[in-house]
Amino acid sequence: MTKSPRVVVIGAGVVGSALADELTERGWTDVTVVDQGPLFAPGGSSSHAPGLVFQTNPSKTMTEFAAYTVRKLSGLTLDGQWCFRQVGGLEVATTEARWTDLRRKHGLATSWGVEAALLGPDECAARHPLLDPAAILGGLHVATDGLAKAVRAVEAQARRAIGRGARFLGGHTVVGIGRQDGRVTGVETDQGFIPAEIVVCAAGFWGPRIGRMAGLTVPLLPLAHQYAVTGQVAALAGVNDPALEAGRPILRHQDRDLYYREHGDRIGIGYYGHRPMPIDVDDIRPPGDMVMPSVLPFTEDDFAPAWRESVALLPDLSGTKVEEGMNGIFSFTPDGFPIMGEHRELAGFWVAEAVWVTHSAGVARAMAQWLVDGQPGTDVHECDLNRFEQVQLAPDFIEERGKQNFIEVYDIVHPLQPMEKPRPLRTSPFYPRQRELGAFFLEGTGWERPYWFESNAALPATVPARDEWSARYWSPIAAAEAAATRQRVAMYDMTPLKRLEVSGPGALAFLQRLTTNNLAKTVGSVTYTLMLGHDGGVRSDLTVARLAEHVFQVGANGPLDEDWMRRHLPADGVQVRDITAGTCCVGVWGPLARDLVQPLTRADFSHAGLKYFRATSAYLGEVPVTALRVSYVGELGWELYTSADLGLKLWDTLWAAGREHGVVAAGRSAFNSLRLEKGYRAWGIDMTTEHDPYEAGLGFAVRMDKGDFIGRAAIEGRTAETARRRLTCLTLDDPAAVVMGKEPVFAGGSAIGYVTSASYGYTVGRTVVYAWLPAALAAPGTALAVEYFGERLPATVAAEPLFDPQMERIRR
Ligand SMILES: Cc1cc2nc3c(=O)[nH]c(=O)nc-3n(C[C@H](O)[C@H](O)[C@H](O)COP(=O)(O)OP(=O)(O)OC[C@H]3O[C@@H](n4cnc5c(N)ncnc54)[C@H](O)[C@@H]3O)c2cc1C
Repeated sequence: MTKSPRVVVIGAGVVGSALADELTERGWTDVTVVDQGPLFAPGGSSSHAPGLVFQTNPSKTMTEFAAYTVRKLSGLTLDGQWCFRQVGGLEVATTEARWTDLRRKHGLATSWGVEAALLGPDECAARHPLLDPAAILGGLHVATDGLAKAVRAVEAQARRAIGRGARFLGGHTVVGIGRQDGRVTGVETDQGFIPAEIVVCAAGFWGPRIGRMAGLTVPLLPLAHQYAVTGQVAALAGVNDPALEAGRPILRHQDRDLYYREHGDRIGIGYYGHRPMPIDVDDIRPPGDMVMPSVLPFTEDDFAPAWRESVALLPDLSGTKVEEGMNGIFSFTPDGFPIMGEHRELAGFWVAEAVWVTHSAGVARAMAQWLVDGQPGTDVHECDLNRFEQVQLAPDFIEERGKQNFIEVYDIVHPLQPMEKPRPLRTSPFYPRQRELGAFFLEGTGWERPYWFESNAALPATVPARDEWSARYWSPIAAAEAAATRQRVAMYDMTPLKRLEVSGPGALAFLQRLTTNNLAKTVGSVTYTLMLGHDGGVRSDLTVARLAEHVFQVGANGPLDEDWMRRHLPADGVQVRDITAGTCCVGVWGPLARDLVQPLTRADFSHAGLKYFRATSAYLGEVPVTALRVSYVGELGWELYTSADLGLKLWDTLWAAGREHGVVAAGRSAFNSLRLEKGYRAWGIDMTTEHDPYEAGLGFAVRMDKGDFIGRAAIEGRTAETARRRLTCLTLDDPAAVVMGKEPVFAGGSAIGYVTSASYGYTVGRTVVYAWLPAALAAPGTALAVEYFGERLPATVAAEPLFDPQMERIRR
């Protein structure tokens, strides 16, 4: 490939145009942006988006995307006209639940570096005089939020890109994707073929149609959403300079699914409270004279509640009425995140889809970095095209979850709250038994995963009472299950964890190249290792069991691990197979685990017979198992794998044998607590591609002397001592206090870091918190505070792990 490859971007909306700008800025100047519609308002969502930019989001990545959009567009003008008006953003609460949640959101903003303030009703009304202070309890104000003028931002960024050599072609409809030998060769348009080494689909809600041309499922659902504009509001007459459009903050009234902005002396009202209105991408009109394909006729009846609620919040609206409205189309995905990345089966075909104006520049920058530098420069695992399991790509799933995301877009969503439909999807072979035991299930990647079992309700547990928020999707039963694990023995369903089999004569060399630890060990070895990106960031952590000379079982984190492996497969000699669905796993852990398991088998499960971090094949009764002597909960025991057909038999065998030892079934609530007491990190929560192994406390899994591996050059010379930030263990000083994750951490009056994982540690008797902190503040004994719903909870840095640092409980 030449240094500056030929790139075609499909779509001249706010994403495509930002991408052309970012690519050309990085020296990739051979960029052609094609759009079926006329430039620079070709008729997609960007052509009429009202452009409200609220930066704060539960996701750090999404917040950073938005913050970059704000910074970038604030510095842009088009012929002297603004592209971004920093009028501030105000989210008001009319219910106690929302007011409480705004305090949590204030914490999120602080964690991600966005300055925000909580205001009382009068202060809100002072900033936005149309507000009735009597109707609200308060608001969250972010001074740097504001309005993006999407159409101008499209043209301003396009002009910059054109100035560096890019071409923008309106009236070019892409009708096919060229390919040869698994690589993209260009795009076929109604005006002819445009060759390219790289094609990026930024076609907004048309993405699924373009995806089909490339043999790719783009899992998004186009939905119509109502936006209306009033006539003149008397109180606004003459207030705003027409050229500036707005002076008051953009406003959200999420308790009623509404948002507002000024259009001079009129008010624009967006509404998410109506029924979901999915649109079939094939029914969307092509652009043409006077046709805005993304705009459908306004359905007045759907808007009636919005108007009533708007007048209640902004009484001055009673003197006017809605003068124009539309049902505008844009994209919703199954999990609410954008879709970014490269098609695995068609090299060079990339997508940047389901992106709001809010995140457009941030997404475009990450895409450009990904293309030019090989890595997106920020953690995009939540947005990665390849994050979905196959079942999540079913059209019915995409539709159901897309609609649900529309409904919930302004809801207060608890971090553990699952979507209710479609469920159940994936169940382990133990599911019938788990139901009999009264499992409380939550869903993850389609799997039903027990969090605790009502059958354990009678077991003793002393645990402090909780506030309403942290008590959701939680039960004190988790404490009893944790105690049973530490004192006796428990069975954990580990089936949903992704398992890959990597086999073939080249398997060892392949895994050695992909991971940091040394896997060249005897058959039967088990190794904890990391996959790094080329920049040394942690892409994943894996537990690799060498089951035969050329067969490795890899405990992975999800579809992205398989994707990364497949992208690095040599031409022959290595196979990667996802064996998750065909197999299952029970973790049997606790001081009595050996008393339970050994009598079931003629194999030697003694400490000497099967050492810690060793694997063996055995029969438990009639059931053939692969046993890995590892423990994520810090107790003696094994992960016991068998094929799915024998799963129920395995469960029943273990259960029957365990009765005399007081075995319990235990769920993820207890599991999460136990792993944090032991300091075991969870990838994607505690560390991501943004962190190197030493910062994350995982230097022990790196063997610099084993030969080359991906990421090695980048981490050369780094050590735990050179790390400037650290994933750090804290405990909350008050044994009754609880936090949930993502809260800001304070030293003195300053926010200095954020929480990743947190759970009550039932053995240590206080909440265990992991947080990213500057290294200088990560020394044990340092007094800090964690902010939870506005309250600063004293916390102290602790030496880790908190539980059994000598590993005496595991190694015996
Ligand atoms: C009513 C409404 C209100 C909104 N409010 C906000 C808001 O306040 N804040 C916010 O952040 N976001 C908002 N959004 C969402 C936002 O508008 C979109 O997410 C964003 O504009 C998408 O940008 P895009 O560049 O990905 O897609 P688009 O702007 O849709 O661009 C895609 C382009 O691809 C072109 N294309 C498609 N198929 C082909 C083909 N076959 N050949 C050639 N070209 C093709 C289309 O013509 C189109 O121009 C709103 C959306 C709507 C509908």
